[in-house]
Amino acid sequence: MQKLVRYTGANRYGGRDEGVGGDDWVKPSVRTVIEHFAGLTWGDFSNMNGGPFPPHQTHNDGNDADGWFNGYNARDAATAQTIIGHLNDATYGSRILTVYVTYQQANGNAFWEAIRNVTLNDGRQARDVIRPLGGHTTHFHWIVSE
Ligand SMILES: [Zn+2]
Repeated sequence: MQKLVRYTGANRYGGRDEGVGGDDWVKPSVRTVIEHFAGLTWGDFSNMNGGPFPPHQTHNDGNDADGWFNGYNARDAATAQTIIGHLNDATYGSRILTVYVTYQQANGNAFWEAIRNVTLNDGRQARDVIRPLGGHTTHFHWIVSE
């Protein structure tokens, strides 16, 4: 695998997980994507050499990032529009393979209603990229391609 590099931006939240060698480690090509987007703050990436990063199930290969933006926690239609904006970014939107968000695919759920029929600029369906997953009420999770 590629050697990981540190994300050195100051726009971070949470602790830095020094017990696993720091949480700043990403693939160089992934860091390029992370640094491109404005208005986001970042939590965990991967630890120094990749590998298990409890309590996460993932975050083990330098492709994952936990992030947050003002308004995320509402997980409403406005939140959905912001995420769709990231995915429609002309430079790097297509590099975001998956966004995990806690929401219900149920009629009347404002977040779901705002993404369910959206086709992204690159032809993907927003609902295929923005996936519901527990544990993401206060941050989203990106899987970024190399
Ligand atoms: Zn995560």
